[in-house]
Amino acid sequence: MGGVGEPGEGSARPAAPLPTLRWEQIRQHNLPGDKWLVIERRVYDISRWAQRHPGGSRLIGHHGAEDATDAFRAFHQDLNFVRKFLQPLLIGELAPEEPSQDGPQDAQLVKDFRALRQAAEDMELFEAKPAFFALLLGHILAMEVLAWLIIYLFGPGWVPSTLAALVLATSQAQCWCLQHDLGHTSVFRKSQWNHVAQQFVMGQLKGFSAHWWNFRHFQHHAKPNIFHKDPDVTVAPVFLLGESSVEYGKKKRRYLPYNHQHLYFFLIGPPLLTLVNFEVENLAYMLVCMRWTDLLWATSFYSRFFLCYVPFYGVPGALLLFVAVRVLESHWFVWITQMNHIPKEIGHEKHRDWASSQLAATCNVEPSLFIDWFSGHLNFQIEHQCQHTLSPPASSPRCQGTTTAGWLRWSRHCAPSMASTTK
Ligand SMILES: [Zn+2]
Repeated sequence: MGGVGEPGEGSARPAAPLPTLRWEQIRQHNLPGDKWLVIERRVYDISRWAQRHPGGSRLIGHHGAEDATDAFRAFHQDLNFVRKFLQPLLIGELAPEEPSQDGPQDAQLVKDFRALRQAAEDMELFEAKPAFFALLLGHILAMEVLAWLIIYLFGPGWVPSTLAALVLATSQAQCWCLQHDLGHTSVFRKSQWNHVAQQFVMGQLKGFSAHWWNFRHFQHHAKPNIFHKDPDVTVAPVFLLGESSVEYGKKKRRYLPYNHQHLYFFLIGPPLLTLVNFEVENLAYMLVCMRWTDLLWATSFYSRFFLCYVPFYGVPGALLLFVAVRVLESHWFVWITQMNHIPKEIGHEKHRDWASSQLAATCNVEPSLFIDWFSGHLNFQIEHQCQHTLSPPASSPRCQGTTTAGWLRWSRHCAPSMASTTK
């Protein structure tokens, strides 16, 4: 095997045939320091590379002994570039008789999902609109100025202070959304620009570390609602979510009055998440992982905030304003981000395919139905564009043969019954 971490010369297959491997062999390599995974039916030894993985060793390690094809495609912007790093890690390929999936998964569903994703890419649905993000940043900056102007013009009384706190909390909440999309490298074509912009929004506008957010959030998307892999639901023993309540019940472990957790959630969940939990965890992350640039960015936020408001309130008053903004912002953050995750299935690893694992944590729809419905929706759009607009022209490849597998199933099963009901 070549030097781990060095890009290969290309993705051409080596002259010698690759050893063939079976899933039962691959499953034995899912230990700390000994991990294999599969991408596009090729087997990679990531044992040493995991420590150098830009997304963190935990993130890539969560896919140990799995088919990580869809996660690989979802997490990397420039696949051709990343494939160069895979080449030195290649140790074999799946034996021809082995399925591409690592468990009892629906191969047709996986195929339909990939066709759907390809159709969405062909329709440029993942292309960001620069004007939208410019306006998003613009209104955040405008709110920061507006809050200061309210205090400057009307003084630090209760009414102007409450108004300023509400405006600042709205600005902070909107910053979460903007930095989230930048963290997903969804705004700029160059990933580097996304990262720099995320550091500005997260560091200067919010006082948090962008790397800390990515460390948590990438794991959340890789394994949504899975204990010990998704940090967002690994909250025991403070709260017992999903299967952990059964587990604690059987073992008779009781550190808190869990029968009242639905009540104390309102005291320590929404009000304190960003003020206490995030602040402490964020500072610990920056110090332990020696993210000194992030620490400087965060310092720039606190310097600006206190320089702006200490002249009106003094130090204790400015601190009170800061706490009020964080508590308001925290409610907004918790209700928006957790309402679609906490009520869903939360538990241990089920080794589902990518599409099913994402949908199980976010909506109540059967994955195959969702893919069929969404494929049908896209095909309506394609047909509409091709028939009623000049862009793309009807002769373009996008107007021919773009029908996805899910659409075929949808048109077979649903369209006839719809046609009969609309007569
Ligand atoms: Zn996300």
